[in-house]
Amino acid sequence: MLFACGSSDDIELVAIGSNTKPPITLESSPTSKAKNIILLIGDGMGPNQVALARFATGGPDHRLSFENFPITGIVYNHSADSLYTDSAASATTWTTGVKTKNRYLAIDAEKKFLPTIPELLSTKGYKSGLVATSSITHATPAAFYAHIDSRYKEKEIAEMLIDSDIDIALGGGQEFFDAPSEDSPFVIYDKTLLDSSLLNSKEQVIGLFAEDGLDRRLGTPTQLEMTQVALTFLEKKSQNCNGFFLMSEGSQIDWAGHDNNVKYMLVEFADFDATVQAATNFAVANQDTLILVTADHATGGLVLQRPKGSKIPAQWTTGSHDLSPINIYAYGPGAELFSGVMDNTEIFDRILQALDYENLDSADCSN
Ligand SMILES: [Zn+2]
Repeated sequence: MLFACGSSDDIELVAIGSNTKPPITLESSPTSKAKNIILLIGDGMGPNQVALARFATGGPDHRLSFENFPITGIVYNHSADSLYTDSAASATTWTTGVKTKNRYLAIDAEKKFLPTIPELLSTKGYKSGLVATSSITHATPAAFYAHIDSRYKEKEIAEMLIDSDIDIALGGGQEFFDAPSEDSPFVIYDKTLLDSSLLNSKEQVIGLFAEDGLDRRLGTPTQLEMTQVALTFLEKKSQNCNGFFLMSEGSQIDWAGHDNNVKYMLVEFADFDATVQAATNFAVANQDTLILVTADHATGGLVLQRPKGSKIPAQWTTGSHDLSPINIYAYGPGAELFSGVMDNTEIFDRILQALDYENLDSADCSN
């Protein structure tokens, strides 16, 4: 035999869930221009991760929160130097509109500085926030504020966060930060301080709830909890501004894929889905908010096979990322821009188009 794959050891039987939530209709926004953007990233969330989460939660008639969004598209995601992208190159495309090499953050393949969406928007009267369940210096969040030739230089990336335009950043990564000094942002390490009544009075907030990535078994905050606090903070801070930008990442959907661990993936996915639902509730109440849900790449080469009774055989075929295209789901003003097949660099272009960036007045929003 020339190659071997699919030994039954790699196959996990996953029960079909019964918590079925049928599709609901989300009305299109009456406005055409977006004020706020919420970008929700499921790192490593390929189409089959979405399918497995749907089956395992509520079966074939179930819809995950973002599967009710009116607009969907397909995203191609190769990097500048490979058909195989990593999170750094992929996130750089959303924040700058330019393809770069794997490992690079917000610089191009020739190492030229590229301004990011939070940097562009900070001159237009915007507030920005980041949430991740990895360290906040990990590749995806770092691409929004760091300009560096290796995602692994996390101590330097941490310094770049302190000096950045990011108003609130919540995740893990204590080990990469020096102890706060007098002119540092307000830094919290304890989940009990993740409290809007405390944080909303601060100028710039960094929350570091683990040495590196968050471990929910140790009671670290969930993506949902951090995202709700960040949303409340940004909404309050941007009252006299033009709007806000928030990126929130379910970072460990990817780690579960690298580990080939279905149970881990489904737990991370449930938190991500709840986070998207909370963001959707915000957008339903605030019709000027555009929500985008997408991934950087798929991880694990996940294959779902013909069911055995009420169980689905789920097979991982690699411990790395795979080359599957990924989906994008959009709801809110400008959502229709995200229909069809697109390259990941076009997500950046279309976000700026949804905001009518060209015609936004320059404004300072330090209040
Ligand atoms: Zn990965």
